[in-house]
Order: sequence, then C-alpha cells, then structure tokens
Amino acid sequence: MSQAGKVSRRDFLKLAGVNLAGLALRGLPAGFGDWAAGWPSLRLSDLPVEIQNILRRVPKTVLMQNGYLHLLDENRFSRGRVPLAPTRWNLERSKAVDELFPDMRWGIVLHWYGDPDYFDRRIKGYLRGFNSTRRIADFETQTSAHFLVGDDLPAVVIDPKADFFGIAQTQAPSPQGVPYLASHLNNFVVRGFAGEHYFINALYQLGLAGPPVNPVLVDLFEGPKVDPNFRTISIEITGSDFDDPGQAPSDQKIANALSVVWAVMERYQIRALDVLGHSEIQPDNADPGKKFMALMRYLLGVKALVEGDARMKYLVFGPFLEEGSLPERAVQRYFEFVRAYLVLVDLPVSVYAWEARSKFWFVMDQIVQAPLALPLISQGCFPIFGETGHPGSCYLDPDNHEGLDIYPVGAENKLDWQQRGAYLAVSGACVAVGENHGFHHGKMAVFRHRQPDGAELLTLYGHLQALAALEVGKVYAAGTRLGEVGSLADGSHAFVHFATAYGATWDVQLRQNPNVPLSADARWVQRHFLPPGEFLRQVVV
Ligand SMILES: [Zn+2]
Ligand SMILES: [Zn+2]
Repeated sequence: MSQAGKVSRRDFLKLAGVNLAGLALRGLPAGFGDWAAGWPSLRLSDLPVEIQNILRRVPKTVLMQNGYLHLLDENRFSRGRVPLAPTRWNLERSKAVDELFPDMRWGIVLHWYGDPDYFDRRIKGYLRGFNSTRRIADFETQTSAHFLVGDDLPAVVIDPKADFFGIAQTQAPSPQGVPYLASHLNNFVVRGFAGEHYFINALYQLGLAGPPVNPVLVDLFEGPKVDPNFRTISIEITGSDFDDPGQAPSDQKIANALSVVWAVMERYQIRALDVLGHSEIQPDNADPGKKFMALMRYLLGVKALVEGDARMKYLVFGPFLEEGSLPERAVQRYFEFVRAYLVLVDLPVSVYAWEARSKFWFVMDQIVQAPLALPLISQGCFPIFGETGHPGSCYLDPDNHEGLDIYPVGAENKLDWQQRGAYLAVSGACVAVGENHGFHHGKMAVFRHRQPDGAELLTLYGHLQALAALEVGKVYAAGTRLGEVGSLADGSHAFVHFATAYGATWDVQLRQNPNVPLSADARWVQRHFLPPGEFLRQVVV
C-alpha cells in the first residue's frame, strides 16, 4: 500500500461528508483533486482466488449522462446499452413530478425477487412477472425497479428476441438523465420506527449514525419527512434466500449486481455506505439477506482498492476518514465496519460462514499495517496428555454447557507432570487469560485461530489450577502447555473445560465476559459455539 499525507481538517470535513448535502448530480467537492492521489491500492492477483473469480466477471458498465446503462469493451468504448424493459408501473410514472429529488443524498436499495422454484428464471420470465400483479404488504400491485439483475452474461440490445441477458434496465430516465420513481418501499412502514430499528441502532453503536457521515438509512427515519422512494434507486436480483447455502447467488449474478451498483454509484455520486438492503430499511422483509449485503459492501471495497479510480475510492472510503489520520486508516475502518455491522445484526454462526465465503481475513491481512501472522489450522493436538476418562459435561449436556470436560485417567494424586497439563489444540494467537467464574471456577485462556477456508474461531481452556506464562497477542504452536488441570478449591476432579467458539462470539460476548450468559439455552450455545468434540476429531489425527 502506498503512503500519503495526513488529512487536513479542511479536507476531512469536505471528504467526510459535511459539505456533501446536495451533491447528487453535481460532482465532487472542490479541491478533491489535490488530495486524490493518497488512496492505497491492491493488486487483483494478490487477492484470494475466489474473490478474483467474482471481480474478473464484473462486466464493465457505465451509466451515461442520459441515464442509460451501457456495456463497455476493454478500451471502455460503448458496446451499446443493455435491454430496456420499462414495466407498466414505470411507464405510468414518467412525469416531472416523478423525478427523484435532486437536492438530497440518494441511496441504492437491493432486493431479491423472491420467486418460487417453478418460476421462469430467465430475465424475460421476471419481466412478465413484473407486469402481472403481486401481493406486496396489503396491496395487490405491480412491482417496479430501476434495474433487474440475473445469472446470465449481460448483453447489449442487438437482437431484441435474444433470450438470455443478465442485466436489464426497467425504468427509462428523464430526458436529462434523472431517474424517475421506481423504488417500491412502503412509505408508511418507514415512518416512526427508528428507535426499535436494529440496523440503525447498529450504525449508532458503530459511531456512524450522526454527522459528519449522516448515512441515508438514518436520514430516511430521522431526516426530512419525505417519501423514501424519491431518494432511492432500486435493483432487483433474481432468486431468493441468498443467505441459505443452497440458494447462494452465482459468481456471475454477484458480478452483475456489483457492476450495476458501481455504475449507479459513479453516475449519481452515491456512497458505498448508502448501498442498502431492503431489510435494512424495512426489517420485516428479509431480502436480500444480511450476509449478501455484507458481501456486496466488502466487494465494493475490494473493487475500489483494485481499480485506480480515486473518485470511486472516495465514495467507498470517504465517510471513514478521520481528522489527522492516513487514508489507509479510512480503508481499514471501512472493512472493519463491514464485518462489525454484520456482527451486530446477525449471529456468530452466520458471520463464521460469511468469513469463509468472503475470505475477509485474508484481505484484511493486506490492509492492516502490521497483520498478526496467524497460522492456518492444520494438524492439532488433544488438550490433555495420554488416556482420557469418561467425559463429564459435554456440549449441550447440560443445555447451557458450551464445552467438553476432558478428564485425565487415574487418581488425581497419581497424575504425573505431563498428565496434569492442558495443551493448546491448534496453533493460534492468545487473546485472553484470566479467571473464569462461570460454569466452572478456575483459570482460563482463550486463543484465536483461522480455518484454511478463512473463517475464524476461538478455543477456550477453563477450570485450570495454574496458567503458564502466556502473552496476549502472541502466536503459540499446537501442543503448547497452557497450564495445569488439578485438584481445585471447589473439590471437583481434575479436568480441562474445552470449548470452541465462532470468532464473532468474541465480539458479542467473550470480550466482555468469558462465560456463557446465565440466560443461555441450547439454541444460544449452538449459535455461538461449535461442537468441540467434532472439532477435535477433525484436527487431531
Ligand atoms: Zn424487497
Ligand atoms: Zn465444562
């Protein structure tokens, strides 16, 4: 990554968004050019291959001044525009009063179409669906969007009878290139719910809700009372339930969606922070999935780093600039935000799956200045030495027991030095040592590990009599002696309480308190902890 000067107060205020009200359609703040060279970059070939595979498929598109989406060739010349398929709903809303408000910041809203299995899954099939009525909330209505994205490669309008194309524009813009109303958020639902709106609460918790950032999501609720459909551009994506592994969108569909989002951001100066999922505005909807939205935000960040366009880097990372710090820091804060937001709105077990899909930590290693050299999980070691006795409490037995109690065999006073030890199961970094007063009393240690697929987890060792001299932040090899099991003050037998938690369980629980909450039941445990016996069977050969 390149180095650059620190952000001055003047640039900070300009870039972080204070002066951005009314910017839509009018370009970037004056003076931006002086500063544009400071953003860092990444090389596509340095990214995980799964991410390269998506980014290489992203079709080059541009939303022209007249508001029409064109496909570009390698030299960025137009190959022609994508098929235009204005729906009946759209055609009825093409007057001057239907133009989006020009003097307010806009957002992009992503939806999945939510079609049943028997649906004709070509875009043409969806367009037929658009013109028939659908039930939305309590209304029989025709639906609408500005763009429709599917699985096929995008195509230009050459043969209007061509059956397969991955991107359609479903709303013709005004003669000046201003979009007409085609978003379909329920205006009544948006009003008055901010207090109990957990996506907005998450933005508050992350310090992003107020000025200077003022995200569109918060402004829809707490800003001027206007119909949100006049501030949003809607993109429908074919399919449904994207967060369900069986329904995960294809690389080409993700790439097509990314292409359209990118072109709309560029044309109307919309920030990545203001690319929203329908469920974030109306949490009683599930589309297009929390993990899918986190993946899109993450890919927007990666794409911005891979491409040289400083204006797009500004639209992605600008809101994360801090006074007196380097642009690198804003980039890091953006990626931290993408995961932290998902952690706050979804469950640790979901974040774990998302980390594997997104390869988040591998990319973070290239973004942070001094990454921790965390080894990938390979062959491991059993947490005690020698023979193991009959287990006591197991995972979910009792219900709120998140670990596995592992006993050395033999009378306690006969155990030798090796048998009294507790050992690190797989290589990883120590993240905490201390006392544990939860399910069992004793000393405990917690370690962070990374799976070969990129998902992170923690191992916990509790009910210990003594701890070795462990240093938080240091990486230790599998088999490191962590301390001693033994006769404890509570009179119980010697054993190590071994548990395996999803990485995000650290953020939401273990960082504050190494114990399972008193209210935890089996469902809570399953959402926060992996079955430790299964983990050991996989890693201990
Ligand atoms: Zn929707
Ligand atoms: Zn236990």
